Amino acid sequence: MAKDPNCIFCKIVAGEIPAKLVKEGENFLAFSDINAQAPHHMLVIPKEHYPNITEFRDAKGLGELFLAAADLAKEKGLKEGFRLVVNTGADGGQTVFHLHIHILGGRAMTWPPG
Ligand code: 5GP
Ligand code: ZN
Repeated sequence: MAKDPNCIFCKIVAGEIPAKLVKEGENFLAFSDINAQAPHHMLVIPKEHYPNITEFRDAKGLGELFLAAADLAKEKGLKEGFRLVVNTGADGGQTVFHLHIHILGGRAMTWPPG
């Protein structure tokens, strides 16, 4: 499985640094964001290292990630809605270069984003 020894999310997958896990599948992991921007803020990541969404060419894998995110939002009771975000690259505001989907919920979001 592709892994980057300097990647903080690969270290979470490997159990080398702690995280508050909320869901796990064969190929993905979901955990609480360390710096929550909403009452519910979780991240869904592939266990394998892909720097961003443009590098992950597996439709089934991508589908599993989004299904996991939608299931998690439902499990957390986000009936009023939620937002999925995939920041990509410098202009996208990405700071951790291991593909992840943010799930934000528990408050009304604004649009446009900053
Ligand atoms: P990005 O800015 O790349 O879209 O999102 C990266 C997210 O990862 C940020 O929301 C940040 O708070 C979160 N994050 C960074 N380091 C850690 C960590 O060590 N543990 C957890 N749980 N979240 C992290
Ligand atoms: Zn990684």
